Amino acid sequence: MSPPSPLIDLAADTATRPGEGMRQAIAAAVVGDEQRGEDPTTLALETRVAELLGQEKALFLPSGTMANQIAFLVHCRAGDEIVCAENAHVFGSEGAGAAALSGAQFRPIETATGLFSVEDVARRLRVPRHRSPRSRVIAIEQTTNRGGGRIWPEATILALKALAQEKGLALHMDGARLLNAAVATGLPAARFAAPCDSVWIDLSKGLGCPVGAVLAGPEGFIEEALIWKHRLGGAMRQSGILAAAGLYALDHNVARMAEDHANARRLATLLGGVPGLGLQPEGDVTNILFIDLSGTGVPARTLAEALFGAGIRVNVEGESRVRMVTHIDISAEDVEVAGRAIVAALARLRSPQPGG
Ligand SMILES: *Cc1c(COP(=O)(O)O)cnc(C)c1O
Repeated sequence: MSPPSPLIDLAADTATRPGEGMRQAIAAAVVGDEQRGEDPTTLALETRVAELLGQEKALFLPSGTMANQIAFLVHCRAGDEIVCAENAHVFGSEGAGAAALSGAQFRPIETATGLFSVEDVARRLRVPRHRSPRSRVIAIEQTTNRGGGRIWPEATILALKALAQEKGLALHMDGARLLNAAVATGLPAARFAAPCDSVWIDLSKGLGCPVGAVLAGPEGFIEEALIWKHRLGGAMRQSGILAAAGLYALDHNVARMAEDHANARRLATLLGGVPGLGLQPEGDVTNILFIDLSGTGVPARTLAEALFGAGIRVNVEGESRVRMVTHIDISAEDVEVAGRAIVAALARLRSPQPGG
């Protein structure tokens, strides 16, 4: 089914389309052959992101998924183990890429928020012996996507880094929404990113670019990552066309994420009083809000279909969970419309109360 138009698309922050200013930056981009290291705009973006994240070097890539997979390919050998959250993107949403490409396996931690403690990790590290998998990577998501956009505190990241160093592991940050965390806390992104052995940001989520991610790390890591980028077919040609959008977004689309967070908080307020409706997170909303419909008796798919008919798209995540994400193409008014539509749809669809 093709989406209704106009569409209030709360399904994901990948729905964003490049605006006029970004399109002008794309049109004016100075370009060269990226694969030869001769695209000046791509090189400028890589330098800029390395600085932003407090890392030595950075590498422009077609997607965040490729960034995660390349990081594992560099850090791991076949049979190594990656500790991550059970609801992490790397574990559930990348086509089993780690198993298929680097041959690593996951040691998932059950956590509704996507956050876990240093003790949670320490308990899962293997005793080094020939019959055990080799613990190799701790992977965290900043912010936690399926955990409801939660922010890893800097102190926990530093503690994980200390554990990783002690045990000879790599700390990897999937920073698809790292800049949301930076804006929400007011801390520079480097405070979260610099302690990591590899970290990337997505350009095609909240930053509003059409394509791209940038992976950063120490020089030796990026040298190895470049080999894998080429091997996987990620090397590009006049990629300055895409990198220009990234540079534009870093100038214009970061501080404004505060609006996305305010819009998501407003959505939480609009839905807060609905009987039987659970909100996740309950406080500290960034740009992701889950609703748990199990207490309303309304299946997630039924609600999503009713909303779609009214020009609103949400993401169905299981039988009674729906995800909504605010972004640059969602206005404060869109949120009012969507919030009211959800309240009305639930009132209509809710199973009749006993005796009612
Ligand atoms: C979207 C996302 C990815 C993958 O990024 P793509 O650029 O879509 O490949 C990885 N991790 C998280 C947490 C994400 O939200």
